[in-house]
Amino acid sequence: MTTPSASLAERVAAIDQRIAAAAREAGRSPDEITRIVVTKFHPASLINELYALGVRDVGENRAQEVLEKVTEVGQTPDLRWHFVGQLQTNKARAVRRVASVIHSLDREKLAVALDAADEEPRDVLIQVNLTDDPGRGGVAPERLLALAEHAAGCRGLRVRGVMAVAPLGEEPAAAFERLAGHAETVRRVVPDATWISAGMTGDFEAAIRAGATHLRIGTAITGPRPVRG
Ligand SMILES: *Cc1c(COP(=O)(O)O)cnc(C)c1O
Repeated sequence: MTTPSASLAERVAAIDQRIAAAAREAGRSPDEITRIVVTKFHPASLINELYALGVRDVGENRAQEVLEKVTEVGQTPDLRWHFVGQLQTNKARAVRRVASVIHSLDREKLAVALDAADEEPRDVLIQVNLTDDPGRGGVAPERLLALAEHAAGCRGLRVRGVMAVAPLGEEPAAAFERLAGHAETVRRVVPDATWISAGMTGDFEAAIRAGATHLRIGTAITGPRPVRG
C-alpha cells in the first residue's frame, strides 16, 4: 500500500486516483469527497511539504500537538486543520480556535466547552462509537439523538454530520453501513448535516461506497508514523 520508494507527491497522487476511481465506481463524484491527510506524530515540516503539493486539509489527533504545529507552520490562511482525536474539555477552546472542523464531539460536556455563542459557529461532527466497548471514542448510538439535539442548540457550533472509526475485527463495509444510518439520525435534528467522516488507509474505498464525504488518510500518504510516547 505504502511504497517506501515513492515520493510524497506520488503517494498523494496515487491515493487521489484511488479515491476518484472508487467514487466513480460508486456512482459518486470525486468532487464531493474531501481527502484529509492525517499528519499526527510527523513534524510540522511535513505539513509544509504537503501544502506545497496542494494539500489544504490536514488532520491531527492531539490538542498539544495541533497547537504547536499551527504555530510552527505559520501563515497558511487556506490550510484547514481537522481535529480527529479525543478532546478534553479543558483543551476545547484552544482547539476550537485553530481547527476548522472538530470531528470528535462525543458528549454534552464537550459541546458546552466547545460552544462560543459570541463567535462564528465552528463546524463539528458527532463521533459515533461503532464498537461495543465504551472505552473507544464516540457516543453510543442510543445516545446519539440526544447529543445531536443538544449540540444543535449550541449557537457556537454547527453540526455538519457524523464521524467514526471502523472497529477492528469487523468488515468495515458493515460498520460504515451502520454509520450511514446514524448520519440519518443526526439529519432528523439537523437536516443539512450531510457530512460523513469515515475511511482511513485500510478502508477508505469501503467508506466511499458507504457515502463518506471526508476521508482521514494517514500512513498511505505520509508513510509510517514515527514512534512517540
Ligand atoms: C491516525 C488516524 C487516522 C489515519 O489512520 P491511517 O490508518 O494512518 O490512515 C484516521 N482517523 C483517526 C481518528 C486517526 O487517529
